[in-house]
Amino acid sequence: MLATSAESGSGGAGPSGGDAPVITGLEAAAYVIPTETPEADGTLAWDKTTMVVATARAGGQEGTGWTYAAGAARAVIEQVLEPVVVGRAALDIPGIARDMARALRNVGRPGIGATALSAVDVALWDLKARLLGVPVADLLGRARQQVPVYGSGGFTTYDEQQTRDQLTGWVERDRIPRVKIKIGEDWGGNVGRDMSRIALAREVIGPRTELYVDANGGYTAAQAVRVARQMADYDVTWFEEPVSSQDLAGLAAVRGQVLPDVAAGEYSWSLADSAALIGAGAVDCLQLDVTRCGGITEFLRGAALAAAHNLQVSAHCAPNLHAHVGSAVPNLRHVEYFHDHQRIERRLFDGALSPEGGCLAPDPGRPGLGLRLRHADAEQFRSA
Ligand SMILES: [Mg+2]
Repeated sequence: MLATSAESGSGGAGPSGGDAPVITGLEAAAYVIPTETPEADGTLAWDKTTMVVATARAGGQEGTGWTYAAGAARAVIEQVLEPVVVGRAALDIPGIARDMARALRNVGRPGIGATALSAVDVALWDLKARLLGVPVADLLGRARQQVPVYGSGGFTTYDEQQTRDQLTGWVERDRIPRVKIKIGEDWGGNVGRDMSRIALAREVIGPRTELYVDANGGYTAAQAVRVARQMADYDVTWFEEPVSSQDLAGLAAVRGQVLPDVAAGEYSWSLADSAALIGAGAVDCLQLDVTRCGGITEFLRGAALAAAHNLQVSAHCAPNLHAHVGSAVPNLRHVEYFHDHQRIERRLFDGALSPEGGCLAPDPGRPGLGLRLRHADAEQFRSA
């Protein structure tokens, strides 16, 4: 039976019709999944990944979204967002998204607040598509049937054999024509090893696969320019966060002096953050993360903002969440097929997509995001 109401909830823009399904529940759970081996990039090391899952219910359907964040995002969902969301008309996402953002005013939208909001927004889109019986890609409208991906990992902790195996898997087994490795090891303190790992990657993937690097903000601006000159022999075409993405002037300065595309945006917590990156001339390609920027709602708006400035967008991490929204974005360049996240998504979700052939293709026969959390498999990772 559909739970219905003529009211759209507190702060809502108005009724959505007497038969409109109403959100009857919003829950959150956190899961902590160990990595296979210790992992690191230029500026951070980790041995586990926390996934916070939001579940929204309406009209006998359940929508699921998630974010890769800290367990604190669960508390923000439960304490701050749940009262805003429950009782609202499930189809009216823009109003709910606006009111969730408003509710975060004193809590802080950037960081944990944005991750919590993002997980809920994604859950709402999944829920809406399920209520309407269509895939999210079709609800949004498709610009393409499948999204190109690039293989992403190449952690600084990997030895030569691990690096070879991962790169070979993407290029030869999965036939993905683009890969990315981490550089900037030890906050730019080991450029010699960065360069030898870039050389190794190019050797393994051959001349025709695109090679990307990500320094995670590990270099200074002048150092990044010198590194870019050193890697010219290896045809690197994407230089992600050569300096901190908080250093807009630094990104713009590097961008003006190097050949690879400069990319950043994984810490865009809002449309305003994306506008600042674009306005500073900091990026050749804007990265957006549906689990951080404000969900599918803000991903679409960020992509439109980029389009207005003749820029493409690239989806950061969480590949299975980006397959659908990426399908709907005309100026999408690609989706990051991040090793940690694809591993978690394939292990814990029915319907996780394969990158074979270098693309993710949303299944037209599965409603919503086409994914179902396998609770029995996830339970062992659940955080108290
Ligand atoms: Mg990155």
